[in-house]
Amino acid sequence: MKKTSEIKKPAQNPKTKPVAATKSKSVAKSTTAAKSKSAAKPVTANKSKSAAKPTGTTKSKSAAKPTATTNSKSTAKPTTATKSKSAVKPTTATKLKAAAKPKGAAEPPVKLVSTDVAQKEMKLLCQEYPEAECELDYSSAFQLLTAVIMSAQTTDVTVNKVTPTLFERFPDAKALAEADLDEVKEIIKPTGFFNAKANNIQKCAQALVANFGGEVPKTIEELTTLPGVGRKTANVVLGVVFGVPGWTVDTHVQRLSARLGFTKNTEPEKIEVDLQKLFPEQDWSQLSITLIWHGRRMCFARKPDCPRCPVQDLCPSAMV
Ligand code: SF4
Repeated sequence: MKKTSEIKKPAQNPKTKPVAATKSKSVAKSTTAAKSKSAAKPVTANKSKSAAKPTGTTKSKSAAKPTATTNSKSTAKPTTATKSKSAVKPTTATKLKAAAKPKGAAEPPVKLVSTDVAQKEMKLLCQEYPEAECELDYSSAFQLLTAVIMSAQTTDVTVNKVTPTLFERFPDAKALAEADLDEVKEIIKPTGFFNAKANNIQKCAQALVANFGGEVPKTIEELTTLPGVGRKTANVVLGVVFGVPGWTVDTHVQRLSARLGFTKNTEPEKIEVDLQKLFPEQDWSQLSITLIWHGRRMCFARKPDCPRCPVQDLCPSAMV
C-alpha cells in the first residue's frame, strides 16, 4: 500500500504475547512458509495490487445465473400490489445493502475450534502474509476514511484508480464538503454506486467540518456518527491510522471466521465480540487485515484453494 510517512504504526504493548507480532519472528525462521510465499506472491505492493483477484462477492455476482424462481418471477404478470411495490424507488442505502448480500453457495454448518487452535490458525496465516496491510492508497486519515467508504462493493484496486484524481481536486474535508457533487460523481464513477457514494463521502466531509473541525475523530463512538460510517469503516481507520485495535468485520472476515471455526454468529457486531474473546486486543487490527488478505488470495467465497492453504490441517472447513 502506498501511504505517506506521516502516519506511523503504533508501538505494541511489550507485556503481552501478540499473535500477529510473533509471526514476524516465526516467519524469519520459517523456511517452508517463506518458500511457498515467495513462489505464490508478487514482489512489490503495486504488483500485488494489479494482480489482486476480484472479491468473492464480485466473482459470485458476475458468475451468478438466474434461478428458476427468478425466471418464473420475471415472466409472471405483476399484480396491483406488485406494481405499487415496484413503484417505490429504493434509497441509495437500500441499494448498497441489497448489493452487499452474499450470492455464493450456502456454507456448511460451522464447527467451532478451541482458542488454542484459533490462535494457531491465525499464527500460520500471519506467517503466510507477513506483509499484510491495508491496500487502499491514502495520505491522511480523511483520505483513508473517504477511500474506505468508496470501497463498498468494489475492489481496493478500483478505488485506488480514482482517489488520485479525487484527492488532488479535494484533498481535505473542507474541500470535499464544498465540492460540486456532480464533479465528485464523475470522478468516482468507476467504483460503482457512485450516486450513493458521492453523497456519502460529501455528507461525511460536511459532518467532519461541522462537528470535528475538519479532522477525523479518534473514537469509534464519534466516527460512527458520520454519514456512511459504520463500525467496519471506523475500525479500519482507527486501526490503520490511529493504532486503535479493532476488528474489521467485512465480507472476508465474516466468511473466514465461520470457516476457521471462530464463530457461529452471522451478524457482524456479534462476530466482532467473538473474535475479541479469541485474540489479544493489540492484534485485532492486524489479524483483520490478515484474514482479508487470505480471503482475497486463497479462501475465496465460491471455491477456496484449500490444498494450497497453510491452515488446512487445522481448519474445520478444509476441503482437501
Ligand atoms: S483450509 Fe480451505 S476453507 Fe479453511 S481457511 Fe484454508 S482455504 Fe479457507
